Amino acid sequence: MPISKSRKSPFNTSNERGGDRLLQIEAVYDRVPVGLCYLNQDSLIVTINDQLSRLLGVESERAVGRNIEDIIPQHAPLLCRALSAARNGEIIPDGEVEIAEECFMVSAAAVMNDLGQFAGISVAYTNITELRRATRKLQETEQRTAYALESAGQWIWDLNIPANQVWRSPQYRVLLGLDPNAVEKSSVAWDILHPDDRAHTLQAFDDALSGKNPFFEAIYRVKRPDGGDTWILSRGKIVEYGPDGAPVRLLATSVDISMQKRIEEQLSSTVELRMKLEEKLLTANRKLKNLSERDHLTNLPNRRKFSHLLRQAFGQAHEVHKSLAVVMVDIDHFKTYNDFYGHLAGDNCLVQVSRALNKVIKQTDGSLARFGGEEFAALLSGAAKHEVMKAADQMLSSVAAMNLKHEASPSGLVSVSIGIAILDEDNRLSIAGPDDLLNLADTALYESKRNGRARISLWGSFTK
Ligand code: GH3
Ligand code: MG
Ligand code: MG
Repeated sequence: MPISKSRKSPFNTSNERGGDRLLQIEAVYDRVPVGLCYLNQDSLIVTINDQLSRLLGVESERAVGRNIEDIIPQHAPLLCRALSAARNGEIIPDGEVEIAEECFMVSAAAVMNDLGQFAGISVAYTNITELRRATRKLQETEQRTAYALESAGQWIWDLNIPANQVWRSPQYRVLLGLDPNAVEKSSVAWDILHPDDRAHTLQAFDDALSGKNPFFEAIYRVKRPDGGDTWILSRGKIVEYGPDGAPVRLLATSVDISMQKRIEEQLSSTVELRMKLEEKLLTANRKLKNLSERDHLTNLPNRRKFSHLLRQAFGQAHEVHKSLAVVMVDIDHFKTYNDFYGHLAGDNCLVQVSRALNKVIKQTDGSLARFGGEEFAALLSGAAKHEVMKAADQMLSSVAAMNLKHEASPSGLVSVSIGIAILDEDNRLSIAGPDDLLNLADTALYESKRNGRARISLWGSFTK
C-alpha cells in the first residue's frame, strides 16, 4: 500500500516519530492475511490494508481520511461501540459481520500515542467462515448423536466434577421438569435422586471416582414434575483426568427403565401370589391329610393312620432291636349299651373312654388310635414289659374310675378289656410283620373277653 507522508499521523503531531510509527503499522498491515484498519478517535479511517479494502469493495486512497459512516455505514454502529469502549478503557467486545456470505470476526484494540493518550483503535476483520462452518457441523453432529441416543431412549449427561456442573441432553431435562437449556450445579444433579436410592447411587459414583469400578452404574428413581417416579439406569465412565490424575469429567447415559421395573414388580407380585396360593394349598392338603387320618368322633388317629404308624414302628423296632407293644382295648358289652341308652349316649361314652385312655398313653411315648367301632389300639415303642403292663393297668382303672353307668352289663359300669402283644428279643424271629403283632394282640383281647372281660391279657403268658 502506498504510504503518504503528507498524511497526518494520529500518534503525535509534534514530531516525526508519529509518522514513522504509522509507516511501521502500514507495513505490518500489508503483510498479514487479515483485513485491518486503523480508526482515529474521530472515527476517521487513518489507514486500511489491501485485504480489508478489497473485502469492503472500497479503494484505500478513497477511504483514508474518511469517516466510517461514509465508507462502511453497515459496520459503523459496531465500530463506534468499540471506539467508545476503548476510549473509556473498557473491554472491547468482539463482533461478527457478514460480508458476501462470509463470516468475519471484528476485533479491536485500543492504540495509545506516545503520551499514553487514547489515539484510536486498530480493527481486525478475521475470516471465521470455516470456523463457523466447522462449529456448526460439530453442533449438528452433536445434535444428531444426541437425537439418535434420545430416540433410542437414552439421555446423555456430562458431569464436570471440579466445576461441580452437569449438562443434560434436552429431553432428559424435559423429563425432569428442568429448563432444557440451563446448566446447573452437580449438587442439583444428585438432588433429583429418590431418598431411598441416594446412598447406593452416590456409592457407585464414589467407586467410579476412586477407580474401584471402571464404570459408574446405578439404578435409581428420579422425581418427575407430575410427582411420579421414573426408574433410571445410568451408565457412565470417567473420560477425563486432570494432570494430577484426579477425575475431571464423567460422561454418562441414562435410560428410562420404568416399564421393565413395572413388569418386574408385577412378576414378583405374581410370584408372591403364587407362593401364597401354594402355601394355602399345602396347608389345605395338610388339613385334608390330617382329616383323612383322624377319627371325627374322638379326634384320635384313625385305623388308617394307626396302620401306618404300626408299619413304621415295626420297621424301626426291627432295625434298632427295640421292643414294640400293641395294646388293643375294646369296650365291654357296648352293643347293649347302645341298645339301652341309645346311639347318641353310646357316642358320648366312646368319647369319654377315648379321653381316659389317651390321657394314660400321653404320659408314655406311645400313641393311641381309634381302631374301629368301640375298639382302640395303642402303640408303645421301646417300653419294657412292666411299663406296658403298668400303662394297660392304668387304662383299665381310669375307665373304671369314670364310673360310667352301664345298667345292661353284669358289672353295672362301663369297662374295657385289653389284649397286649409285645415284640421283643425273644419272639422277634417268630413275628414276621406288623399284622402278625396286631393279630396276636387281638388274640390276647379275645382271651380277656373269654375270661370275663374288664381285664388284661398278655399274649405269650396264656399260650405257654
Ligand atoms: P363285647 O363285650 O364282646 O365286645 O361285646 P360288644 O357288644 O361290645 O361287641 P359287639 O361287637 O357285639 O358290638 C359292638 C357295638 O359297638 C356294635 C355297634 O353298634 C357299636 N358301635 C360301633 N361303633 C359305634 C359308634 O361309633 N357309635 C356308637 N354309638 N356305637 C358304635
Ligand atoms: Mg368290638
Ligand atoms: Mg366290645
